Amino acid sequence: MDYVYGPGKNHLFVPGPVNIPEPVIRAMNRNNEDYRSPAVPAMTKTLLEDVKKIFKTTTGTPFMIPTTGTGAWESALTNTLSPGDRIVSFLIGQFSLLWIDQQQRLKFNVDVVESEWGQGANLDVLAEKLAADHAHTIKAICIVHNETATGVTNNLATVRKLLDQYRHPALFLVDGVSSICALDFRMDEWGVDVALTGSQKALSLPTGIGIVCASPKALEASKSAKSVRVFFDWNDYLKFYKLGTFWPYTPSIQLLYGLRTALDLIFEEGLDNVIARHSRLGKATRLAVEAWGLKNCTQKEEWYSDTVTAVLVPPHIDSTEIVKRAWKRYNLSLGLGLNKVAGKVFRIGHLGNLNELQLLGCLAEQHPYDPFPDLMNLLCMQLRFLQENLVCIDAEAQCQV
Ligand code: PLP
Repeated sequence: MDYVYGPGKNHLFVPGPVNIPEPVIRAMNRNNEDYRSPAVPAMTKTLLEDVKKIFKTTTGTPFMIPTTGTGAWESALTNTLSPGDRIVSFLIGQFSLLWIDQQQRLKFNVDVVESEWGQGANLDVLAEKLAADHAHTIKAICIVHNETATGVTNNLATVRKLLDQYRHPALFLVDGVSSICALDFRMDEWGVDVALTGSQKALSLPTGIGIVCASPKALEASKSAKSVRVFFDWNDYLKFYKLGTFWPYTPSIQLLYGLRTALDLIFEEGLDNVIARHSRLGKATRLAVEAWGLKNCTQKEEWYSDTVTAVLVPPHIDSTEIVKRAWKRYNLSLGLGLNKVAGKVFRIGHLGNLNELQLLGCLAEQHPYDPFPDLMNLLCMQLRFLQENLVCIDAEAQCQV
């Protein structure tokens, strides 16, 4: 049997689902409640106000849907677009690929802009398309902020700049599943029309809430969008918002209490501090990869992700084997390479409720791809890595004081 649990605690370093902090686990350990009682709507009201903060929006309308990121995608698309609408979508890895597949199955007319996996969205092509589209046939731009399969973060501010430069009215739809609440994300400032995330990523909750936030322009678009939608219809939510009972169907009471505590933890730390922490942990991971003599799948620094690092392994090594070994030997869960990069990369997730020492538990244990490393060599690498990281972490911490 290849997959047997090793002793000790499981070190969960896949890029979602992530570790759930103890206070959140405790908050969720409770009985069901009547969601029509006064208590649940009262708490829901605070949640709807507070989730807006993680999107950095004051004008957006949030929907907390019992679903996953995939459902949140569908909610964003079907509420704002009609079948046959032309949209531009960037293919840079497995999750953008899956979103594009959904867009095509929902019968949108998708201009796919493809980049090599490891690169960011090709925004030069977007500029060309916007410049040529005098008739405004493009109805939406769809982009994954952080491609979890390759550890690539796209530049959303530039997308907004281009839309403004060409005075193009296309809706700006963003998958923030592995970015929101961990990376710099500014819904209002960047004029994002629909942004979405899933509870199991940076919010550090179990899977089960898809949070979608719609701008006033997106809400307006939903009035004429003709895509068939039932479960995901924003209108049903809006009716219950007006009534003050909030829920068109049964929410998970436990997840709502978990979300309340998760948000409290985030605000206690400070959202900007949470983002700065992700930036430190991202840098520390990249330093470790360098110290191991391995390469980042992400080809340029401008695209480096502070929530996930996809590590390229030498061609004679199968990265799936590394993931298996890490699990078996260290009880360490790393992310597999997906699709085009299967066998070529393993992924380290460094998002959510995580601190420096926890991350060291993943990075400093062992040179991950050599089953029989030379001990002195290994120790030297670990020391160098620890030294560099402590300097890096310390310098960053000083900057923040
Ligand atoms: N988008 C991104 C960027 C993701 O990383 C994922 C899942 O990892 C999804 C969408 C799909 O989310 P879910 O698996 O919750 O449906």
